[in-house]
Amino acid sequence: MSSDKCSDKFKRVFFSMSMRFIVPVEHANMIGQIAETNITKHRYIYVPVRVKDKYVLKKLPAISGQAVLNAFERALVDLAKEYKKEYEKKYNKKLLDKDCERYNFIKHANEESGQAEKWIKDCIVEDVTGFLAPKAGLRKTSTIWFSYMVPDIEVGSAILDYQMFTRYTQEEQMIGQRESGHAVYRLSMFVDVSRIGYIEGGDDALGNTDERKLRIELTFKALKLMINGGYIGANKTRALFNEYVSPRSFVIAISNPLPFMVNPAEGENYIGLTIMRAQNFINELKDIGQKITIIYGNREGELAYKEKETSTNPEEKEGEKPEDLSQVKKEENNLQIPIQKKEDLNAAIDLALETILKWMGLSKS
Ligand SMILES: [Zn+2]
Repeated sequence: MSSDKCSDKFKRVFFSMSMRFIVPVEHANMIGQIAETNITKHRYIYVPVRVKDKYVLKKLPAISGQAVLNAFERALVDLAKEYKKEYEKKYNKKLLDKDCERYNFIKHANEESGQAEKWIKDCIVEDVTGFLAPKAGLRKTSTIWFSYMVPDIEVGSAILDYQMFTRYTQEEQMIGQRESGHAVYRLSMFVDVSRIGYIEGGDDALGNTDERKLRIELTFKALKLMINGGYIGANKTRALFNEYVSPRSFVIAISNPLPFMVNPAEGENYIGLTIMRAQNFINELKDIGQKITIIYGNREGELAYKEKETSTNPEEKEGEKPEDLSQVKKEENNLQIPIQKKEDLNAAIDLALETILKWMGLSKS
């Protein structure tokens, strides 16, 4: 690790997570009607899928990363509204600007001049999810990234069928069709936590560690709210499903000082493969003190990982038995990454946040 003053202050910590969950695809990411028909189409993308001994491209219903980001932004705004009063009183600063408060995520895109530092200071949405104002020549890359949500057809199938619906007006009854169905989806996300509260070039925009810590905490609370509060998808007034709150399996990695991405929640062994790769990665970078912690959960039986029966981990809480993965071969002189198992995704995200704040030298409030 570099020992100069700047990087001491700017401790780089990254969060990476992938999960698999059953999702209703009704209206989750519709792209409009087919011309001259009453059929509403879902968004599809081509995904390489292993079939026997080769990869083939399959056309699958997908939800764009932009749609997931929008769900996250709405969750962040709803949460920030609850914290706004106290925050404004305590720091004499704004937590949300007027546009974002109304779910209008323009984020200064049309402005011809301004100050990036002020935009970040005045709104947590700009700070966490970034902005681009080409005319003013100002931007901040989002600190949070989302993948497309894509069905994992290595472990399940994705079928969409047409459902008829009717709408009434005073003059007529309209009949339409929308694509609807369920699929086992996978979603990956990444948070460059150490850039929250900073401008693109790396300068501190808040000048206050407490405030920064609160913004980091709100980011992870918003992530939980997005997953638990049913923010992904649409048409919930007529097609409310609760599968969003029931992830089937997930893996989280926290890393410092270099980023480490978990495997996408694809196939039967993505958790084990992530751990194996993380182990090799820290051993390869032990001269710079690369750290990785893994947290995972699994409700898919033997599907997503292979467990060893015994292991001890002093950091494990909730009285659960932690398990090592048999794929990780214990070799002498090699660093072992801490691995913890949490059945509940919320508890796993809380534990991840605790680790992140500890590594950043910010204690949990
Ligand atoms: Zn804003």
